[in-house]
Amino acid sequence: MAAGVYSHLLIAIDTTHPDERIGRRARELIRDRAGGLTLLTVIEPMPPDMVAAPTALGAPAGLIDYTEIERNRLEHARRQLEAYASAVLPPDVEIVAEVGAPTDAILEAAGERGVDLIIVGSHGRRGIRRLMGSTASSIVHLAACDVLVVRLADG
Ligand code: AMP
Repeated sequence: MAAGVYSHLLIAIDTTHPDERIGRRARELIRDRAGGLTLLTVIEPMPPDMVAAPTALGAPAGLIDYTEIERNRLEHARRQLEAYASAVLPPDVEIVAEVGAPTDAILEAAGERGVDLIIVGSHGRRGIRRLMGSTASSIVHLAACDVLVVRLADG
């Protein structure tokens, strides 16, 4: 397999808007190359007021196991990424689901892996009415490597 321009690609997918066009575009880029490929999604932490709510309402602390809920959310997201990967990507993709702020976590994961191309969609949950979603826009501005924004405008 011939090596391409990039050695490690990271595809960021919001599992609430898992658009296959992003993965398909990445697939076109990686068809003739060897190297790393990571598929990442970031789950935002539960809002503090939600975590605090039961205790504030008088429920005994520890009644709800938030760690367990977070674990289940991560496991669910991971399964969604696995389904996404098996539909669009080659089998050797690294699948990562983690908790954090999407932009920070994507940039950190890219830095840790020496990623030289981050691939995102132009729109997702947050940016549906904008030219470029807030996550895509932040990544373009802050990434230390190249960024491919797959245009997802529907009209
Ligand atoms: P948005 O900022 O929601 O419009 O999303 C734009 C793009 O950023 C999406 O198509 C994804 O590629 C990426 N993205 C947004 N949120 C996440 C997330 N939680 N985890 C991974 N990628 C994300």
